[in-house]
Amino acid sequence: MGTFKGFNLAPELVSALHKLGYDNPSPAQATVIPKALEGKSLVCQSETGSGKTHAYLIPLLQKTDFNLPRLQSIIICPSRELARQVYDFASAFSRFFPKFKARLYSSEAEVSQNQQGNSIAPQMIIGTPGRLKALLVDQYSFDLHGVRSVILDEADMLLEMGYFEDIDPLYSILPEKCQTMVFSATMNQGLKNQIEKYIGSQFLFEGGENKSATNVRHHLIDIKHVGVKEALIAFLEARRPYFALVFSSKKADVIEAGSFLRANGYDPVVFTGDLDSRERKASLRRIRSGKVPIVLCSDLLARGIDLEDVSDVVSLDLPSDLSYYYHRAGRTARFGKDGDSWVFYNADSLSKPKELLSQGVAFDFYSLKNGVLSQDTVGLAEKKKYTKKKPFSDEEIKEIKKAKAMASSSQVKPGYKKKKKQAIAKVKNKFRRKAIQKSIQKKKDERYAKRTKAKLAGDE
Ligand code: AMP
Repeated sequence: MGTFKGFNLAPELVSALHKLGYDNPSPAQATVIPKALEGKSLVCQSETGSGKTHAYLIPLLQKTDFNLPRLQSIIICPSRELARQVYDFASAFSRFFPKFKARLYSSEAEVSQNQQGNSIAPQMIIGTPGRLKALLVDQYSFDLHGVRSVILDEADMLLEMGYFEDIDPLYSILPEKCQTMVFSATMNQGLKNQIEKYIGSQFLFEGGENKSATNVRHHLIDIKHVGVKEALIAFLEARRPYFALVFSSKKADVIEAGSFLRANGYDPVVFTGDLDSRERKASLRRIRSGKVPIVLCSDLLARGIDLEDVSDVVSLDLPSDLSYYYHRAGRTARFGKDGDSWVFYNADSLSKPKELLSQGVAFDFYSLKNGVLSQDTVGLAEKKKYTKKKPFSDEEIKEIKKAKAMASSSQVKPGYKKKKKQAIAKVKNKFRRKAIQKSIQKKKDERYAKRTKAKLAGDE
């Protein structure tokens, strides 16, 4: 692996990177940085946790004129949390370059606060699409002539959330020669079309599609007939993870699992869209303090958030868009570390695990039985379905009630329980016989219909 010295970066920047603990570029950084320094627009499809934020921050910092109090780069993120994270990464460089000013615009409060409190223009702004559109297009708060680079971070999520409606008008007022760098974990035709509008069809660094970090060990756990929440508790007891991120695709299930864990003595952070911005910040602070070993969340909220040292990702279910599974698994094993991604399933939910296996995810198999997590040698081969027993028909219930009443007497005599049982069994047997006769008749009818059809075809 090379070092950052090979990129023709300013020695002060290389030294700042070293002090921040970054000495060797990641593969994404090694490919993106030289092209970005040339001023080329590019698309980087890279694994989550691949160091993509610094793949653009480093060239942006190298090109920023710190003596010029003028806006030079814009970073657009799909969520407040991601914007804050990028802002924190960028601000870490202010320690080494005191004239470098980055500003965050992802909530109304930040917009008004920053507009009133600081008359010197920042060189870099980071924000969410709606806020940036309001600021730059509607209010025309900054002179955009000096903007040389725009970053679209987590572009697949920008598209998914319909944010290009806010980004399009921004592009209409940016300088023509502005460089665009697009970063996205996944790439589909819709996104390609959208990006081509801005930069043409230049694709630079395409990581394997839909692949999360390579050091993730993928496991499928057969939870059998046990309920998901109960299985989660059993899993946590058996595995005792250092830091687990637990996903469910439904918000209600996330909340329910959170309450269940609390009722069982755990103190998880439950991270859903219902939190207001203060609560979200407080949750993120709690998570980052390292004191919370369990975080429950839904898919959208977890995208792009860099939580350090997630040892285990647990999927209570699989998302309907399976590409989200790779985002989930990519929350662990970040930057060269390793980690485990566990997926709960049972015989009634085999299709999505099978689909992931066919996409090449190298799952191994576990089962969770009586609180013991052990390797499962059967895997997905023939599993017994946990189908619910067919309910009794109204008629059957009526007869069972009648039989019960007849078998009970006003006095409790010896053997009354046995008598009652026998009466109920008699009714059930009668209905079972009826069902069998019906099914035999149905098969007979089918055979007869088939024969008649064949005969008619022969006569013709
Ligand atoms: P990202 O993919 O941008 O979310 O980054 C994932 C993590 O990698 C972050 O915690 C960064 O601090 C870290 N990181 C980024 N670049 C490097 C590097 N060259 N060396 C070590 N860690 C890095």
